Amino acid sequence: MLKTLGEMLFGGSCFLCRGKASGLLCEPCDADLPRLGPELCPRCALASPGGAVCGRCLTQPPAYDATQAAFAYAFPADVLIQSLKFRGELALAPFLGDILSKIVSGIGVDCLVPVPLSAERLRSRGYNQALEIARRVAAATGTRLAPELCERGRDTAEQMDLPLEERAKNVRGAFQCAGIVAGTVAVLDDVMTTGATLEEMAATLKRAGAARVVNWVVARTPHRV
Ligand SMILES: [Zn+2]
Ligand SMILES: [Zn+2]
Repeated sequence: MLKTLGEMLFGGSCFLCRGKASGLLCEPCDADLPRLGPELCPRCALASPGGAVCGRCLTQPPAYDATQAAFAYAFPADVLIQSLKFRGELALAPFLGDILSKIVSGIGVDCLVPVPLSAERLRSRGYNQALEIARRVAAATGTRLAPELCERGRDTAEQMDLPLEERAKNVRGAFQCAGIVAGTVAVLDDVMTTGATLEEMAATLKRAGAARVVNWVVARTPHRV
């Protein structure tokens, strides 16, 4: 019998619990992945009654126009994301990319841009986890992958290491667009917490000419932080 990809990569054991699995996760762990509720603000993907645009997005509209998220940023999705980001578990990128692809399939965009790392961070980590996920999402949805559109000029502190109130300041002016941007751009990131990074990306892309910017993220903190 042919082995599944999960068996070849992980020897048939679940990435999280090491129990028997035919894919990357066993069925119980897969069922444990924290889904977001059905009633979300279409703009920021936080809970909002009836799925209406939330009060915050009405009074202080963000630069991005919409947000799609695969999971809540909670256990065990956080373990998967941190393993990809900090422990080089690159086989998680297509796994997370496939799940995100199902959420965003049918949303027409002109190109997909992963949130870039600075050259310095890219050298020390060896890969950009957002780009690795984006490769799979682009292939699965037939979207043009355009990582060259936007770069991160200066190195900024890891957002996760900073107090929430310092995160917007930390990323201000961090991104530059290489040329003229047009149409609808999807921006892919692994985690959306305060939204400061994605706000800065969307503002930068719109200054460069993007008409619409939508966020495609693997995990969203379920509450306003
Ligand atoms: Zn398991
Ligand atoms: Zn909102």
